[in-house]
Amino acid sequence: MSNGEAGNISLRLLLVEDNPDDEALVLRAIRKGGFNVEHTRVDNREDLLEALKSDDWQIVLSDYQMPEFNGLAALNVVKSRNKDLPFIIVSGTIGEEVAVEAMRNGAQDYLMKDNLTRLVPAIRRELSDADERNALRQARETLRYQALYDEVTSLPNRWLLRDRIGQALAFARNKENNVAVLFLDLDRFKNINDTLGHNVGDMLLKSVACRLKESLFERDTLARLGGDDYIILLTDLPDKKVAEKVAKRLLDSFKRPFIIHEKEIYVDCSIGIAHYPENGDDVDVLIKHAESAMYYAKEQGRNNIQLSSEEIQTATAQRFEIENDLRVAIKASQLRVFYQPQFSLPDGKITGIEALVRWQHPSHGLIPPDKFIPVAEETGLIIPLGEWVLRNAIADMQKMRELGCQPGRIAINLSARQLYHVDTPGMLESVLKDAGIGTDVLEIEITESGIMQNPERAEANLKQMKEMGVSISIDDFGTGYSSLAYLKRFPIDTLKIDKSFVRDITFDKGDATLVQTVIAMAEALQLRVIAEGIETQEQHDYLARFGCDEGQGYMYARPMPCDDLIGFFRDKECA
Ligand code: C2E
Ligand code: CA
Ligand code: CA
Repeated sequence: MSNGEAGNISLRLLLVEDNPDDEALVLRAIRKGGFNVEHTRVDNREDLLEALKSDDWQIVLSDYQMPEFNGLAALNVVKSRNKDLPFIIVSGTIGEEVAVEAMRNGAQDYLMKDNLTRLVPAIRRELSDADERNALRQARETLRYQALYDEVTSLPNRWLLRDRIGQALAFARNKENNVAVLFLDLDRFKNINDTLGHNVGDMLLKSVACRLKESLFERDTLARLGGDDYIILLTDLPDKKVAEKVAKRLLDSFKRPFIIHEKEIYVDCSIGIAHYPENGDDVDVLIKHAESAMYYAKEQGRNNIQLSSEEIQTATAQRFEIENDLRVAIKASQLRVFYQPQFSLPDGKITGIEALVRWQHPSHGLIPPDKFIPVAEETGLIIPLGEWVLRNAIADMQKMRELGCQPGRIAINLSARQLYHVDTPGMLESVLKDAGIGTDVLEIEITESGIMQNPERAEANLKQMKEMGVSISIDDFGTGYSSLAYLKRFPIDTLKIDKSFVRDITFDKGDATLVQTVIAMAEALQLRVIAEGIETQEQHDYLARFGCDEGQGYMYARPMPCDDLIGFFRDKECA
């Protein structure tokens, strides 16, 4: 190989030529054309094959007649190795037939040695054509890549995954093998994304991908479906237990923190497993069942593994039905608000009412909130549902007032999702304003676990509501974090002792002590205490003795529709 003199464009040339004089002739013409040429000359098949081992040639110029070789044979060798490498025959006179055959076999051009004026333009043209082909190929490759791989983690995406599962199933059908699909979802990833930013979120997704890969074999497929959902495809399993073992290993790998920007981040995950053939024999069905098993795992407490089962599949189908029906229910006025009065324990006077939603389903009858509120929360339907409840409760409140009843405060349950929704304080304010009712009649009930999901955001939103004049009550107190000291940082007015403690207060010393302690601490912090779920006189007496301010429960009144409540007020007045 020899370096040419300085020129503008560099050219790596493979020259098939036996005659050094002709070599010099060709090189001179090329250099004159402004190329900085690097070249190798060969004149037989072996040397040509050797030279083609390097693939950075840009063009081949070949003589036709050589003692040990000829142009057509050289052309076949070159094209069989790299059909995109431009090949130009530069020779003495060749017959027209040879020229036609050369072109037919893939040569780009042929020139006469005694007239090289077309040589440089031909090289330029071929280089530019080759560039174009390259750019096109690259664009096609990029497109193919983007269509099949996830941008953030470079893992196979949904489409490539479906293809791989399809192949695995076809293979397993013939061999009667087991295939498992694992659906892995990070616990509380949204929180990390929201608090630390998308950039950190993306880096975490990448690190998770690497961590998972370390725990898998080369032949297993790890894919990302988007969001924080990963899928692992395990094929050729000797028995079903293996998938569980792999899932356990994956779960364990999350015990170590992820290091992002030198910061340790701990995340857990939940994994659902679906098996072929037990849980389905179709790509989408398997993914769906693995996903619903994952949700089940999450519900059982995070950081968990769950195998798909018939019960889970039925429960998922029912949930799906509820979700669909619930969308209709909000629009078709199938929801009802019931009210349960709250009483002052010392004197039995009504102090307020709690709004509790129900669903008058056209075919299933009256459905209690526990059956549909969780679905509404999961799907986000709780936002319109919550606003509907508030509007109706406030309208009923006006109606009661107009009829001369004095229900006092109205307590509305807010789910965590509503608490964190930016529009909630504004929504509360506008509903009350539209009704011309003061904000001081409204009390919102929110659970401890709801607050603890994101204490900073909760604090900000609660403060905003508090400033508007709304009071704040902690519902189901005692079942969660239960640290009054911690809760002090929130603007709380009321503690609502959970009904599970009230239920056992007369015979469980531990519960009785806990209730007493909560009441004493609440008094010290100047919080109002209300006990819910009072069903017996005995429970009432215990709570009154402990100094509990208020009570609510079946003993006094069950939740009831507005009209019944109006009747209840009237009876009470007459009594
Ligand atoms: P919660 O806020 O703890 O409501 C108290 C539940 O206890 C109500 O159940 C009520 O009917 C029931 N209850 C009242 N007195 C007694 C009693 O003496 N004994 C027993 N065993 N239970 C009693 P409900 O109405 O089925 O509501 C269940 C849950 O659904 C509520 O629990 C609340 O978390 C949620 N919920 C209800 N309405 C709404 C709403 O409009 N929005 C939101 N986000 N959640 C709601
Ligand atoms: Ca409540
Ligand atoms: Ca409660």
